[in-house]
Amino acid sequence: MNKTDKWQGNSSSVEYRPGVGPFLALLAASSVGIVLVGFLLWFIPTIGLANIHPALPFITGALLVVGALLVLTGALFIMLAALKGSNSESSVVGALLLRSKLLRWGLFKLFLPLMVLVGGIVRTPKIKIEQAFLVINNQMVRLMGRKIKPERILILMPHCIQFDDCKIKVTRNVENCAGCGKCEVGNLLDLAHEYGIDLFISTGGTVARRKVYEDRPQAVIAVACERDLTSGIQDAYPLPVYAIVNKRPHGYCMETGVDLVDVKEAIVGLLGKAA
Ligand code: SF4
Repeated sequence: MNKTDKWQGNSSSVEYRPGVGPFLALLAASSVGIVLVGFLLWFIPTIGLANIHPALPFITGALLVVGALLVLTGALFIMLAALKGSNSESSVVGALLLRSKLLRWGLFKLFLPLMVLVGGIVRTPKIKIEQAFLVINNQMVRLMGRKIKPERILILMPHCIQFDDCKIKVTRNVENCAGCGKCEVGNLLDLAHEYGIDLFISTGGTVARRKVYEDRPQAVIAVACERDLTSGIQDAYPLPVYAIVNKRPHGYCMETGVDLVDVKEAIVGLLGKAA
Protein backbone atom coordinates (compact mmCIF):
# COMPACT_ATOMS: atom_id res chain seq x y z
CA MET A 1 0.00 0.00 0.00
CA ASN A 2 1.48 3.35 -0.93
CA LYS A 3 1.02 6.54 1.04
CA THR A 4 -1.64 7.90 -1.27
CA ASP A 5 -3.71 4.78 -0.73
CA LYS A 6 -3.81 5.59 2.98
CA TRP A 7 -5.33 8.97 2.24
CA GLN A 8 -7.82 7.58 -0.20
CA GLY A 9 -8.82 4.67 1.96
CA ASN A 10 -8.03 1.89 -0.47
CA SER A 11 -6.69 -0.53 2.12
CA SER A 12 -8.84 -3.48 3.03
CA SER A 13 -6.96 -4.62 6.12
CA VAL A 14 -6.88 -3.29 9.65
CA GLU A 15 -3.91 -0.94 10.03
CA TYR A 16 -1.94 -1.11 13.25
CA ARG A 17 -0.58 2.29 14.14
CA PRO A 18 2.45 2.04 16.39
CA GLY A 19 2.34 3.98 19.61
CA VAL A 20 -1.44 4.31 19.90
CA GLY A 21 -1.87 1.38 22.35
CA PRO A 22 -1.35 3.37 25.58
CA PHE A 23 -3.47 6.18 24.12
CA LEU A 24 -6.34 3.79 23.46
CA ALA A 25 -6.03 2.31 26.95
CA LEU A 26 -6.23 5.81 28.45
CA LEU A 27 -9.13 6.65 26.15
CA ALA A 28 -11.01 3.58 27.38
CA ALA A 29 -10.16 4.37 31.02
CA SER A 30 -11.24 8.01 30.62
CA SER A 31 -14.54 7.14 28.99
CA VAL A 32 -15.34 4.55 31.69
CA GLY A 33 -14.34 7.17 34.28
CA ILE A 34 -16.73 9.70 32.76
CA VAL A 35 -19.55 7.16 32.84
CA LEU A 36 -18.82 6.25 36.48
CA VAL A 37 -18.76 9.90 37.53
CA GLY A 38 -22.04 10.41 35.67
CA PHE A 39 -23.54 7.43 37.47
CA LEU A 40 -22.46 8.76 40.84
CA LEU A 41 -23.80 12.20 40.00
CA TRP A 42 -27.13 10.53 39.34
CA PHE A 43 -27.11 8.04 42.18
CA ILE A 44 -26.11 10.29 45.04
CA PRO A 45 -28.84 12.92 44.70
CA THR A 46 -31.44 10.35 43.70
CA ILE A 47 -32.84 10.14 47.19
CA GLY A 48 -33.18 13.91 47.34
CA LEU A 49 -34.69 14.18 43.85
CA ALA A 50 -37.35 11.63 44.69
CA ASN A 51 -38.47 13.83 47.51
CA ILE A 52 -39.01 16.72 45.07
CA HIS A 53 -40.90 14.62 42.49
CA PRO A 54 -41.06 10.82 42.15
CA ALA A 55 -40.26 11.01 38.39
CA LEU A 56 -37.13 13.18 38.71
CA PRO A 57 -34.65 10.36 39.44
CA PHE A 58 -35.78 8.53 36.30
CA ILE A 59 -35.61 11.65 34.11
CA THR A 60 -32.10 12.58 35.26
CA GLY A 61 -31.10 8.92 35.01
CA ALA A 62 -32.33 8.76 31.40
CA LEU A 63 -30.41 11.93 30.53
CA LEU A 64 -27.24 10.51 32.04
CA VAL A 65 -27.67 7.24 30.15
CA VAL A 66 -27.94 9.21 26.89
CA GLY A 67 -24.83 11.20 27.86
CA ALA A 68 -22.94 8.01 28.76
CA LEU A 69 -23.93 6.41 25.45
CA LEU A 70 -22.67 9.47 23.57
CA VAL A 71 -19.35 9.37 25.44
CA LEU A 72 -18.87 5.65 24.86
CA THR A 73 -19.90 5.91 21.20
CA GLY A 74 -17.46 8.79 20.73
CA ALA A 75 -14.65 6.79 22.35
CA LEU A 76 -15.54 3.79 20.20
CA PHE A 77 -15.38 5.75 16.97
CA ILE A 78 -12.10 7.42 17.95
CA MET A 79 -10.70 3.92 18.54
CA LEU A 80 -12.08 2.88 15.18
CA ALA A 81 -10.37 5.83 13.52
CA ALA A 82 -7.09 4.87 15.17
CA LEU A 83 -7.24 1.16 14.41
CA LYS A 84 -9.11 0.83 11.17
CA GLY A 85 -8.29 4.12 9.51
CA SER A 86 -9.98 4.80 6.23
CA ASN A 87 -11.68 1.41 6.30
CA SER A 88 -14.17 2.90 8.75
CA GLU A 89 -15.73 4.61 5.76
CA SER A 90 -17.15 1.25 4.73
CA SER A 91 -19.93 2.03 7.19
CA VAL A 92 -22.12 5.03 6.38
CA VAL A 93 -22.68 5.77 10.07
CA GLY A 94 -18.95 5.37 10.71
CA ALA A 95 -18.07 7.75 7.89
CA LEU A 96 -20.50 10.37 9.14
CA LEU A 97 -19.31 10.16 12.72
CA LEU A 98 -15.63 10.08 11.88
CA ARG A 99 -15.99 13.22 9.79
CA SER A 100 -18.09 15.03 12.32
CA LYS A 101 -16.82 18.11 14.06
CA LEU A 102 -18.49 16.89 17.24
CA LEU A 103 -16.28 13.83 17.39
CA ARG A 104 -13.14 15.92 16.89
CA TRP A 105 -14.40 18.33 19.54
CA GLY A 106 -14.87 15.39 21.92
CA LEU A 107 -11.33 14.16 21.29
CA PHE A 108 -9.69 17.59 21.57
CA LYS A 109 -11.63 19.16 24.41
CA LEU A 110 -12.90 16.23 26.47
CA PHE A 111 -10.89 13.06 26.04
CA LEU A 112 -7.40 14.48 25.55
CA PRO A 113 -7.33 16.60 28.75
CA LEU A 114 -8.80 13.65 30.66
CA MET A 115 -6.27 11.23 29.20
CA VAL A 116 -3.41 13.53 30.17
CA LEU A 117 -4.86 13.60 33.69
CA VAL A 118 -5.27 9.82 33.88
CA GLY A 119 -1.89 9.35 32.17
CA GLY A 120 -0.29 11.49 34.89
CA ILE A 121 -1.80 9.27 37.56
CA VAL A 122 -0.62 6.04 35.91
CA ARG A 123 2.69 7.69 34.93
CA THR A 124 2.35 7.49 31.17
CA PRO A 125 4.74 10.08 29.68
CA LYS A 126 2.77 13.02 28.28
CA ILE A 127 4.76 12.94 25.04
CA LYS A 128 3.54 9.39 24.36
CA ILE A 129 -0.07 10.52 24.71
CA GLU A 130 0.61 13.51 22.44
CA GLN A 131 2.31 11.35 19.79
CA ALA A 132 -0.64 8.96 19.69
CA PHE A 133 -3.07 11.89 19.68
CA LEU A 134 -1.30 13.34 16.63
CA VAL A 135 -1.53 10.01 14.80
CA ILE A 136 -5.26 9.83 15.48
CA ASN A 137 -5.78 13.50 14.64
CA ASN A 138 -4.07 12.99 11.27
CA GLN A 139 -6.19 9.93 10.65
CA MET A 140 -9.31 12.00 11.27
CA VAL A 141 -8.08 14.75 8.94
CA ARG A 142 -7.52 12.10 6.27
CA LEU A 143 -11.00 10.72 6.85
CA MET A 144 -12.47 14.14 6.18
CA GLY A 145 -11.41 13.36 2.61
CA ARG A 146 -11.88 16.87 1.31
CA LYS A 147 -10.31 18.11 -1.90
CA ILE A 148 -9.01 21.50 -0.88
CA LYS A 149 -7.78 24.12 -3.32
CA PRO A 150 -4.05 24.84 -2.96
CA GLU A 151 -4.64 28.51 -2.15
CA ARG A 152 -6.78 27.44 0.85
CA ILE A 153 -3.99 25.34 2.39
CA LEU A 154 -1.36 26.86 4.65
CA ILE A 155 1.95 25.25 5.59
CA LEU A 156 3.17 26.48 8.97
CA MET A 157 6.80 25.98 9.96
CA PRO A 158 8.56 27.00 13.16
CA HIS A 159 11.41 29.50 12.94
CA CYS A 160 13.80 26.96 14.47
CA ILE A 161 13.86 25.09 11.18
CA GLN A 162 16.13 27.77 9.73
CA PHE A 163 19.92 27.33 9.74
CA ASP A 164 21.08 29.11 12.90
CA ASP A 165 23.70 31.31 11.23
CA CYS A 166 21.60 32.26 8.21
CA LYS A 167 21.40 36.05 8.06
CA ILE A 168 18.39 36.11 5.76
CA LYS A 169 15.08 37.00 7.35
CA VAL A 170 12.54 34.42 6.23
CA THR A 171 9.92 35.01 8.92
CA ARG A 172 8.49 38.10 7.25
CA ASN A 173 8.83 36.79 3.74
CA VAL A 174 9.93 33.23 3.08
CA GLU A 175 10.63 34.18 -0.54
CA ASN A 176 13.80 35.88 0.75
CA CYS A 177 15.36 32.43 1.16
CA ALA A 178 18.32 31.99 -1.22
CA GLY A 179 17.92 28.22 -1.27
CA CYS A 180 21.53 27.58 -0.27
CA GLY A 181 20.70 24.10 1.03
CA LYS A 182 21.99 24.61 4.56
CA CYS A 183 18.50 24.04 5.92
CA GLU A 184 15.20 22.72 4.58
CA VAL A 185 13.53 26.10 4.07
CA GLY A 186 14.69 26.21 0.43
CA ASN A 187 13.32 22.72 -0.33
CA LEU A 188 10.05 23.52 1.42
CA LEU A 189 9.73 26.68 -0.63
CA ASP A 190 10.26 24.66 -3.83
CA LEU A 191 7.50 22.29 -2.68
CA ALA A 192 5.18 25.20 -1.90
CA HIS A 193 5.83 26.70 -5.35
CA GLU A 194 5.28 23.34 -7.05
CA TYR A 195 1.79 23.02 -5.56
CA GLY A 196 0.92 26.72 -5.31
CA ILE A 197 0.58 26.61 -1.52
CA ASP A 198 1.43 29.36 0.95
CA LEU A 199 4.40 28.62 3.22
CA PHE A 200 4.83 30.63 6.40
CA ILE A 201 7.71 30.52 8.86
CA SER A 202 6.41 31.56 12.24
CA THR A 203 8.35 33.03 15.16
CA GLY A 204 5.82 31.69 17.66
CA GLY A 205 2.32 30.53 18.46
CA THR A 206 0.80 34.01 18.57
CA VAL A 207 2.16 34.91 15.14
CA ALA A 208 0.99 31.56 13.76
CA ARG A 209 -2.52 32.09 15.16
CA ARG A 210 -2.65 35.59 13.64
CA LYS A 211 -1.58 34.21 10.24
CA VAL A 212 -4.34 31.58 10.40
CA TYR A 213 -6.86 34.21 11.46
CA GLU A 214 -5.90 36.54 8.60
CA ASP A 215 -5.63 33.92 5.85
CA ARG A 216 -8.60 31.79 6.92
CA PRO A 217 -7.32 28.58 5.27
CA GLN A 218 -9.47 25.47 5.01
CA ALA A 219 -6.65 23.27 6.27
CA VAL A 220 -3.21 23.69 7.80
CA ILE A 221 -0.15 21.50 7.56
CA ALA A 222 1.83 22.24 10.70
CA VAL A 223 5.34 21.16 11.63
CA ALA A 224 6.51 21.47 15.24
CA CYS A 225 7.26 19.47 18.37
CA GLU A 226 4.55 17.26 19.88
CA ARG A 227 3.56 19.75 22.58
CA ASP A 228 3.17 22.71 20.22
CA LEU A 229 1.30 20.64 17.65
CA THR A 230 -1.12 19.31 20.27
CA SER A 231 -1.93 22.76 21.69
CA GLY A 232 -2.06 24.26 18.19
CA ILE A 233 -4.57 21.66 17.01
CA GLN A 234 -6.77 22.31 20.04
CA ASP A 235 -6.59 26.08 19.53
CA ALA A 236 -7.31 25.84 15.81
CA TYR A 237 -10.45 23.67 16.21
CA PRO A 238 -12.62 23.32 14.09
CA LEU A 239 -9.96 24.03 11.45
CA PRO A 240 -8.36 20.70 10.43
CA VAL A 241 -4.63 20.65 11.12
CA TYR A 242 -2.45 17.89 9.70
CA ALA A 243 0.44 17.51 12.14
CA ILE A 244 4.01 16.56 11.29
CA VAL A 245 6.45 16.11 14.16
CA ASN A 246 9.78 17.82 13.47
CA LYS A 247 13.23 16.24 13.50
CA ARG A 248 15.40 17.43 16.36
CA PRO A 249 19.04 16.41 15.77
CA HIS A 250 20.24 19.28 18.02
CA GLY A 251 17.41 19.10 20.54
CA TYR A 252 14.31 21.24 20.86
CA CYS A 253 14.05 24.63 19.16
CA MET A 254 17.42 24.60 17.37
CA GLU A 255 18.06 23.80 13.72
CA THR A 256 15.17 21.39 13.61
CA GLY A 257 14.15 19.62 10.42
CA VAL A 258 11.26 17.94 8.71
CA ASP A 259 10.82 14.95 6.45
CA LEU A 260 9.91 16.47 3.07
CA VAL A 261 8.22 13.21 2.05
CA ASP A 262 5.78 13.65 4.94
CA VAL A 263 5.03 17.23 3.89
CA LYS A 264 4.46 16.17 0.30
CA GLU A 265 2.21 13.33 1.40
CA ALA A 266 0.15 15.75 3.47
CA ILE A 267 -0.13 18.19 0.56
CA VAL A 268 -1.29 15.65 -2.00
CA GLY A 269 -3.66 14.13 0.54
CA LEU A 270 -5.37 17.43 1.24
CA LEU A 271 -5.47 18.30 -2.45
CA GLY A 272 -6.95 14.88 -3.17
CA LYS A 273 -4.28 14.17 -5.77
CA ALA A 274 -2.00 11.26 -6.51
CA ALA A 275 1.62 11.85 -5.41
S1 SF4 B 1 18.06 27.47 2.78
FE1 SF4 B 1 17.34 29.61 2.95
S2 SF4 B 1 16.84 29.88 5.10
FE2 SF4 B 1 18.09 28.03 4.97
S3 SF4 B 1 20.18 28.75 5.34
FE3 SF4 B 1 19.88 28.78 3.12
S4 SF4 B 1 19.15 30.83 2.65
FE4 SF4 B 1 18.95 30.57 4.87
